[in-house]
Parts: sequence; structure tokens; C-alpha cells
Amino acid sequence: MQKGGGCMIRSYQVRLLPDQIQEQLLWKHVNTARFVWNYGLSYQRKRYKNKEKHLSGYDLRKVFINLKQQDGYAWLKEVSAHTISNVCLDLDDAYKRYFKKQNGKPKFKKKNKCKNSFPVRKDTFYFNNNCAVIEKIGKVKYQTNYKLQQGRQICKFTNPRIKYDNNKWILIFGMECDNQTQTLTDNSIGIDLGIKDLAFVSCRNEFRVFKNINKTKEVKKIEKRLKHAQRKVSKKYHVNDNNYKKSKNILKAEKRVKQLYNKLSNIRKNYIHQTTRTIVNMLPKRIVMEDLNISGMMKNRHLSKAIQEQCFYEFTKQIKYKCENFGIEFIQVDRFYPSSKTCSKCGHIKKELKLSDRIYKCDNCGLVIDRDENASINLMNYKVN
Ligand SMILES: [Zn+2]
Repeated sequence: MQKGGGCMIRSYQVRLLPDQIQEQLLWKHVNTARFVWNYGLSYQRKRYKNKEKHLSGYDLRKVFINLKQQDGYAWLKEVSAHTISNVCLDLDDAYKRYFKKQNGKPKFKKKNKCKNSFPVRKDTFYFNNNCAVIEKIGKVKYQTNYKLQQGRQICKFTNPRIKYDNNKWILIFGMECDNQTQTLTDNSIGIDLGIKDLAFVSCRNEFRVFKNINKTKEVKKIEKRLKHAQRKVSKKYHVNDNNYKKSKNILKAEKRVKQLYNKLSNIRKNYIHQTTRTIVNMLPKRIVMEDLNISGMMKNRHLSKAIQEQCFYEFTKQIKYKCENFGIEFIQVDRFYPSSKTCSKCGHIKKELKLSDRIYKCDNCGLVIDRDENASINLMNYKVN
């Protein structure tokens, strides 16, 4: 028996639901983080001009400790000192990458043009009573599908940050999970990805079909709205033809399109996460999939949209990653392996099988079986040479 699990860091995104006062504090942190970055940058540039030595991130932090004591800068005390320090370290990292020629020169951050984000103090940060407890901000309610462990000093967090994106406050962090060693079963799982349904999964004598999320009412409704919104934008452009500057209405309509688009892609991504998690939680010792020629399939005009929406690439990436974390063997079978043409009962290989043949009928043993079910069984039973 193999053991799965182990120590790993996973990255999480959780939506924060701050009250009015907390939101003001969040903005204060965002604005201060930008101020510290810009002040630190002009400070370093001035030193450079005066032929003085470049300050380390640690020394730059001291500049702000002194600045706080000066007239007119007392407001710096209203935000977490760790946020200020971490921005200094971020700037120092940017300089280091620049010195190593990995990056361009650090640039000033302009309001409304840069990412609205700031680093959070990690050693005092935790979840409790379904709130995120954040230094200088307080207990902020959050919304997530993850079951986050509640209580102080239970999890180790890395690099927690808060960003304001698309009218939402998002908390991002890495978390080190305990050594949750889980015993893997002796089973092999075969996965056949498809257009009609997302995935057909075979494990021993059981089959599971994961439906195509794009066929659900919810997704179809949002897609309809998106189409409508896109049409609205192109119409508005027409009216606006002679006008170089985008009107307020166009900006508003474009924002709507972006929102709907994000909503759709989030639903799809979450579904892939859910599905791959469910499969991996069956704790097989190995998972076998076909190595799909996705870029080749995308060239087919009739299939490309469906394939893109099904996120095959994302699916493969996630199942691979999750297998690694669980210690599950992951096998991608050569795309020329006849998983669909082979009879899963007797091993006979059909000469011809059209894409439209949804049922597999064996000419040798008479087996009649769903095409995808047959393929997934073959993958499950795949023997490595
Ligand atoms: Zn057969």
C-alpha cells in the first residue's frame, strides 16, 4: 500500500465581505502600500543620483519608522507596520531582480492604474468564527467553498495579501496543510474526456459520468446575457464612431461584459476543481488518461468552442497536480492507443469507429456498450509495456 498526502502549500483565494468601516481601512492600506512603494522608489533613486549606496530592504524599513515620527506623516501609524515593511521588501525584491537583469527598472505606481493590493501580516493572521482576523482591519466576514480551519496558529500561512479586483475584496494566501497521509486503494481509474459529457470515469466495476457544465441552465443563462451585453457594446461603438474617446455608456457596457465573462470562467474553473478533487478523493493508486491532442483538436472549427469551454487543458493540469500531491501514479496514454476502438471485454480492435457512433458493438464477442464507458474501461485496464 502506498501512502498519499504529505506536506504541501496550496494557494487559496477567499472573498472578503468587509463592513463600511473595514472597507475604509482596507482602502487606507491599499493607498498606503502604494505611497510606501513610490516614496521608497524615489528615495532610492535620489540616493543613486547622489552616488550613495543602494539601501537594503531592511534599511529602507527604517526610513519609514523615522518618517512616521515626522509632522504630517502620523497617518502612517493607522496601517499595519508589517504592511509597510513588506512593501519595502517587495520593492527590494523588484530591485534585486532588476540588478540581476531579470526584470525592468521598478516603476512608480499610479493611482487607478496599478493593482490595488497590499500585503497582510502573516503571523497574527487566522480564521475564527467564520471571520478572517487581520491586523489593523479586524474580523472580516468571508465567503468561500473551502472548509478553512478555525482558530489561532493551526495553519501556517504564506504571503497573505488582499486585493481589490472587479469590485470585490479578495484575500489570497498560501497554506501549509498538515501531513494528512491517506492510504491509497489498489484501484486503477480510467478517465475518458468528452464533448457531450465532461468525463467518464471507470473504477473497478463502477462508472461515473461528470456532466458538461456548459449544458446547465445556469451557464446557458449567463452566456445569453453575455451575448446580449457584447451586442450592446458593438452597437454603442457604432453610434460612437466619430468619437475617439469612449463614452461613459461604452465603458459601462464593457465593464458588464467583463463581469459576465469572469463569472463564466470562474464557474467553469470551479467545476474542474470540484471534478478533479472528487476523482482524486477516490484514492486510486493510479489514474490513466488519454494524452489528448488539444491544439490539434482546436483546429477543428466545429469542436474548438466546445473544447475551449470544457477546459480540457485545465482538467489535465489539475488532475496531474493533484495526483502528485496524493502520491498517485499518473499515466497519459499515447493518443494513438485505440482506447475507443478496442473491445473492453475481449480485446478485439474494431477497424472503423466513427465519431458519431455513440454505442460500441463488438463484432467478435457481441458486447454492446456506451462508447465512452468502453474507452474509460480500456484506460483503467491499460497495461504499461
Ligand atoms: Zn469483444
